[in-house]
Amino acid sequence: MNFMSIHIDKEKCIGCGKCIIVCPGSLIYQDNNGKAFIKYPKDCWGCTACLKQCSVQAIKYYLGLDMGGGGGYLTIKKEAEYLDWYITTKEGKTKKIRINSKEANKY
Ligand code: SF4
Ligand code: SF4
Repeated sequence: MNFMSIHIDKEKCIGCGKCIIVCPGSLIYQDNNGKAFIKYPKDCWGCTACLKQCSVQAIKYYLGLDMGGGGGYLTIKKEAEYLDWYITTKEGKTKKIRINSKEANKY
């Protein structure tokens, strides 16, 4: 993928619908099996709201060529008050960044 956008893994998606509710651009829909998919990936501006809601990490945020990512991606996992951001490079190396969501608004 050479532009920034998300990709939803239908195998992992449990059809909770939370990402659909939070997407400010109404870009995510449900297929006949209740699985989420993004209809207009190019319209995604990478706000990451959907990633933060997904409890099964079915959503990957691709860091496109326009961001210097070139195939790397980001996933987010919620652990109590923490948000763990996992950044995986195109070489397959993963780095974790932990953010305390209660403190995040201070910055
Ligand atoms: S990253 Fe933001 S704009 Fe893109 S699909 Fe998710 S919620 Fe919508
Ligand atoms: S938040 Fe995750 S599990 Fe829920 S519908 Fe969206 S992709 Fe599927």
